[in-house]
Amino acid sequence: MKKNIAIVGFGGQGGWHGDHALKSDVVSLAGIYDIKEARMEYARNKGIHTYESFEAVLADPKVDVVVCATPNDVHEDIVVRSLKAGKNVVCEKPVEMSVAALDRMIAAANESGKLFTVHQNRRWDVDFLGMKKIIEDGDIGEVINIESRIHGSRGIPSDWRCHKPYGGGMILDWGVHLIDQMLFLITSEIDTVSCTCTHITTDEVDDGFKLTIKFTDGKTAYIEVGTFNFIALPRFYMQCKKGTAIIQDWRENAKVVKCKAWHENDVLPVQTAAGITKTMAPRDEITTDTYEVERPQSDVHDYYRNLVKAIDGIEPALITLPQVRRVMKVMEAAFASDAINGAPVKFDEKA
Ligand code: NAD
Repeated sequence: MKKNIAIVGFGGQGGWHGDHALKSDVVSLAGIYDIKEARMEYARNKGIHTYESFEAVLADPKVDVVVCATPNDVHEDIVVRSLKAGKNVVCEKPVEMSVAALDRMIAAANESGKLFTVHQNRRWDVDFLGMKKIIEDGDIGEVINIESRIHGSRGIPSDWRCHKPYGGGMILDWGVHLIDQMLFLITSEIDTVSCTCTHITTDEVDDGFKLTIKFTDGKTAYIEVGTFNFIALPRFYMQCKKGTAIIQDWRENAKVVKCKAWHENDVLPVQTAAGITKTMAPRDEITTDTYEVERPQSDVHDYYRNLVKAIDGIEPALITLPQVRRVMKVMEAAFASDAINGAPVKFDEKA
């Protein structure tokens, strides 16, 4: 049976949830609540019910799920109060700004016995799924290193995202998605996290960052977000033991170059200004195969389909609290590393 959701915080992302709920096969929109009257009026003009207060949302027995889509600094309060009122909860990413805050939310969820999960919707991104498929197919062997980048050129949005107290900055905004994805591509135990933040357009928060995760088995991950990059580097670049894969842009298929013979008889040298090089000359088709991997099909509304089944106990929630907490720990380690000029911070998987 369909579940009724109520959205708290009806800004950009609350609107996204509203649009999806209005055409959903699994949820219905009971209503919304926002502290800004303009957003309440906007909702009413669309024929959406508005609650007069957050307490009114919690008091409505029709509401099965509260979707929290406010700025990051009020997630804990809204999530904990919703759980205490006996509601299931979906919280927007980043779930909160510290592991300590998340732990209080998890304790409230455990006490209530209700479902509490986070909207890590970029698990449905086809570029990420394309990379995952290449790893799972195994044609180019085991992963050595993965680089995941998002480069924009418009700085940080000039809303709450550029202010520290609201949970602004790019580690919390985009980093949370890219780290979450990366920990699915490389599932090994984390050894260290190193990070430096950029402050090109603002001093208050990080407007970009460069983050390295080293895993205990030697694999490495590099995650970079930039908001002052007028030429973007590839979305994904992956070195594996038998080849390399690249996704230039999230609208494109992956390109794979597989090494089919390590040894080469004749290498055509490349002329550079200072002389010729054979070592760095590109490979030819005698020793490599080049092919494309199509982007997998994906429907982000499967997030809600899973949510409803998880509430009914039919299948486990896809986005689990231990996963969310591990990502939060990596973000905390990233801030700690930045505070010591990017030196590596030891990661404790058990903490
Ligand atoms: P926004 O500024 O557009 O909207 C936030 C809304 O929350 C505003 O309308 C504001 O008035 C309202 N609000 C603030 N405090 C409130 C409170 N106490 N009670 C009720 N309403 C309150 O911001 P946004 O871009 O929609 O971001 C909201 C959340 O969604 C953030 O956590 C953000 O990180 C997340 N987000 C997620 C994605 C994604 O892809 N998953 C994309 C964008 C934003």
